[in-house]
Amino acid sequence: MERSGGHVTRRGLYSLLVIGVILAALMGTAALLAGCRPAQSAAPPSALEPYRPLLNTWEPEEVRYWEGLPRYTITATLNTAERTLQGKMHLRFTNREQSPIYELYLRLYPNLPQYGGELRVSGVWSAGSPLPFEYDRADTALKIPCTPPIQPGQWAELDAAFTLSWPAVDEGWVLFGESAGFLSLPYFYPTLAVHNGQGWHLDIPPAFADAGFSEAAFYDVWLTLPTSFTLAGTGMQVEEQLQESGVKQVHWRAGPVRDFVILGHARYQELVREACGARIHSFFLPEDRAAGQAALDYAASALCVYSDAYGPYPFTVMTVAEAPLTFHGMEFSGLNLLGMDTYRSHRDELRYLTIHEVAHQWWYAQVGNDPYNCAWLDEGLAEYSSYTYYARVYGREEAERLRTLRWEGPYAYARSQGQDKVLAQPADQFVSQRLYESMVYAKAALFFDALRRAVGDDVYYAILQAYVRQYRFRIAAPADFFQVAGEVSRRDLTPLIQQWVLTAEGAAP
Ligand SMILES: [Zn+2]
Repeated sequence: MERSGGHVTRRGLYSLLVIGVILAALMGTAALLAGCRPAQSAAPPSALEPYRPLLNTWEPEEVRYWEGLPRYTITATLNTAERTLQGKMHLRFTNREQSPIYELYLRLYPNLPQYGGELRVSGVWSAGSPLPFEYDRADTALKIPCTPPIQPGQWAELDAAFTLSWPAVDEGWVLFGESAGFLSLPYFYPTLAVHNGQGWHLDIPPAFADAGFSEAAFYDVWLTLPTSFTLAGTGMQVEEQLQESGVKQVHWRAGPVRDFVILGHARYQELVREACGARIHSFFLPEDRAAGQAALDYAASALCVYSDAYGPYPFTVMTVAEAPLTFHGMEFSGLNLLGMDTYRSHRDELRYLTIHEVAHQWWYAQVGNDPYNCAWLDEGLAEYSSYTYYARVYGREEAERLRTLRWEGPYAYARSQGQDKVLAQPADQFVSQRLYESMVYAKAALFFDALRRAVGDDVYYAILQAYVRQYRFRIAAPADFFQVAGEVSRRDLTPLIQQWVLTAEGAAP
């Protein structure tokens, strides 16, 4: 059907202009008074097509859900000599809940004591008008009031300008900052906090637990940095331009991911291989090439094993990278950081570390959960995934040996010390890193082992596949996992959950 265009007289045009000016003035005033301002009641037309090369799956129903996810556009300039970054960010956020949202919270993770950086916001705007904001939670959060509130289904857009500085640390575990020539900057920008039925999640986790808790989102990031610097970032680099002598601008695109990480080194070398529908990149220092090759091969093998066990890896790229994390690792969406000691003195731990972190591409990157209140859920699944890996690659006997050594031993020791703990409690209740690991890793892995043995292998993997399908790029709570497990297995799993998750030896019921 075609519609004929109306004719606008000069007088009519004048009236429209006046109305437009009044409206604009009203909107400007409202924005000044208002705080974050909702835009329209419906989402704009899909702009996700540019992200399609990043994804191995493009189901219309899923894409419709992705259109409601937050979108970040970030432009930043890195000054590696001064250890500072100047950035601007545009964020679009949709209220996907049933009730209005009265304020927005952004997390400033670099200000966590364990990160040791400083992220300051110099201004927040909506449609060019400045918005009020205030720091909260020991400067790890920024509160932006929304008046009028963002109604269910509405979306809001805001811009923020920020400055980041980071520490230089000689040695040891450095997840955030500069060390041994590495620059590692996860969450270098204000990150939208998670909001759900319980409100905004603004917890400050202890140093031994993971900190980042975020929605899956889409990112377009333009970084200006020295040409000498090689980046192993999140997602895919889509463009690189030489700007002036010694300076380049790179454009990265990622999504749906829970984080965007700048990780780089002037001497990074790279190996690439294809495996099970993904292009896998391995970044390492030249002197660690053999380990870099091994990390690439372990990652490829784990990606195929887990794709088969839990459902396909959804992205077309995955990266493993040597990082200043001693012999520890850290998972980000599509990006696995592996401590440089496992490329050297702890080389015998590289395989285990790699298969653990790659499992987080299902249990973190795909299905997210609150790392402060229920760390055991993704850590237990990532940890116990190595049983799956060992059983399928080295045989059942090796997998059984792994259970005895890695989980039964540490858990039995903790119990013998009277230190059994309830899994379902906040991370800081575990007091020390050692106890956190014997519970959130070992005891949680044993819960999944007990579940697998109770329902049998076929049903166990059917549960995990259903869990990923239902919560991919969403956030799940333990109750969601229990529900899926109960429905798929058609069994009452209450006694098992009670024994492993909700109670502890010697603890009051
Ligand atoms: Zn982990």
